[in-house]
Parts: sequence; C-alpha cells; structure tokens
Amino acid sequence: MTARLMTGTDLANEIVERTAQRARGLLRDRGVRPCLATVLVGEDPASVTYVAMKRNRCAKAGIDSRHVPLPATTTTAELVRALRALSADPSVHGILLQHPVPAQIDERAAFEAIDPAKDVDGVTMSSFAAMAFGLPGFASCTPGGIMRLLDAYQVDPAGQRAVVVGRSPILGKPMGMLLLARDATVTYCHSRTVALPELLATADIVVAAVGRPRFIKGHDLKPGAVVIDAGYNPGNVGDVDSGTARERAGLLTPVPGGVGPMTIAVLLEQTVDAAARSTE
Ligand code: NAP
Repeated sequence: MTARLMTGTDLANEIVERTAQRARGLLRDRGVRPCLATVLVGEDPASVTYVAMKRNRCAKAGIDSRHVPLPATTTTAELVRALRALSADPSVHGILLQHPVPAQIDERAAFEAIDPAKDVDGVTMSSFAAMAFGLPGFASCTPGGIMRLLDAYQVDPAGQRAVVVGRSPILGKPMGMLLLARDATVTYCHSRTVALPELLATADIVVAAVGRPRFIKGHDLKPGAVVIDAGYNPGNVGDVDSGTARERAGLLTPVPGGVGPMTIAVLLEQTVDAAARSTE
C-alpha cells in the first residue's frame, strides 16, 4: 500500500483567502482592521522564524500585526503585565504568545493573562474547557487545523480508534478532546505509556505529537491507517518516519506542507473571528 498524501497547503490557502475576504469586509463595512499581537520572549531562532512567518501571513491576509519582543530575562510578572495591556487594548483583537517561553516564566500564568475573547491561539483554560465541552470558543490552532484537514479528506472520526501520541496542553490534549467530540474512541499515549506499538497497531487514526524525529515507524501502524504527523523537528523532519509509513498508511500528512500551514490558517481565521465579534 502506498499512502495518499494529505497535504495542507492548498486547503490552508483557501482558508486564508476566505479570511482575507472577511478581513476586507470588516474594514469596509465596520471600519475595523483585524490586528494580531505577537509576543516573543527571548530570541530562540526557531521561535523568531515562526513569529515572522505568522506576521508575514497576516500581512498577506490584510490583518495587522503588532510585534512585542521582550528580553529573554523577562519575569512572569513583566510578561503578565504586557499580556494584560494587550488584552485591554481595543485595537488588538488576537494575542499570540509564542511558546516555549524561557524556563523562569510560569507559562500557565502568562497564558491566563490573555483575555479569552482574544485567545486566538486557544491556550487559555477557558478555551481548553470550551474544547472539552464541545462549546463555542477558540480551538488550539494545530488541533483545530488537523480537524479541518480530516474533514477535507472526508475522514469521519466517529467510531474510529484514535491514538494521540503526546499530551501537551497546546497539542496532544486538545487534539484528543476534539476527536472525542467527534465520537472517536481516543487513547492518549505519552512518555510513560507501556507497549505503545500494541496500541498503535489498533489505531485507525494516529496523531503524532511527540517532538521526536521519525519516532513512529511504518511497522508500528495498522495497514490503511490515517496518520497525522504534527511533529516538526529540525531539518523539516516529522515525528513519523515517512519513508516506511508511506508503505503502510492509507493517508499521511507530509512534513512540511501538512499540518504546519493549517495551524497558521486557523490562527488567522480565529483572529478575524475575534475582530468580528469585537464589533457585535
Ligand atoms: P511537548 O510539549 O514536548 O510534548 C511532547 C509529548 O510527547 C509529551 O506529552 C511527552 O510525554 C510525549 N512523549 C515524549 N517522549 C515520548 C515517548 N517516548 N513515547 C510517547 N510519548 C512521548 O511537545 P509539543 O509542543 O506538543 O510538540 C510536539 C511536536 O509537534 C513537536 O515536534 C513540535 O515541533 C510540533 N508542533 C508542530 C506544530 C505545527 O504547527 N505543525 C505546532 C505545535 C507543535 P510526557 O507528557 O509524558 O512528557
């Protein structure tokens, strides 16, 4: 079997194009230009690149971005103050705190300083609860993008066995909740999971969110499985060994060009959603 590739690039471009149209409409009809604030603590090269990519996509979609760079020595209190100021600023509609943040910062305290109405990256407890209860709210962007990708490729999670490898608050955990909300039978795996290969062998849908290059191999997979590789490791390498997985999976996201573009598209879409709601 050779897997069909689930590319995200075209779908993401469509979402961004629709988002740009809505942004133009908001400006024309309500005089509101959507604005995303990006907050970066320190100068981690990968984070600098991600923020630049996001701002660049904003500009192309007619969304303003306001960048707030903070020194690597920033304290939790200083970061919380900066995020609260953006939360209170009516000209800012969405706030993105680029993570990971330096070790001295209490990341949860920082995330909670973001007004849930501007939490377009879906990182606050409020957004997390909305995802868990299946209520309206901002999705965590990567899991939200993955659900859109599954829909576009007509993968219905209902009744499917889904294995999510990784349980981070921004990726693995919300991913499992979104799949559960769509009636998948979800198993979370993590660093303390025993017999991961046995669980993977039963999975109709696998989401790899581990942060380890080529961690999941083709022989781990159930033949015909839908395999979503959310991993993005140095050298454009995913968490799935694409060479062997391609011979076993039914559908497989490429890295790059799979999940990554969807994440940014959902971020922009949710920023325009937030701007639209701010004028209602
Ligand atoms: P993270 O916070 O480091 O979490 C990694 C997860 O993997 C943890 O839950 C960890 O388990 C689990 N894990 C580690 N070793 C394992 C093992 N041997 N077996 C099973 N599980 C194991 O990472 P993250 O932020 O979720 O990111 C994961 C990957 O997704 C990274 O490659 C990242 O670059 C990528 N990512 C991509 C996008 C995108 O837009 N494409 C966005 C975000 C992240 P414990 O909880 O037990 O430690």
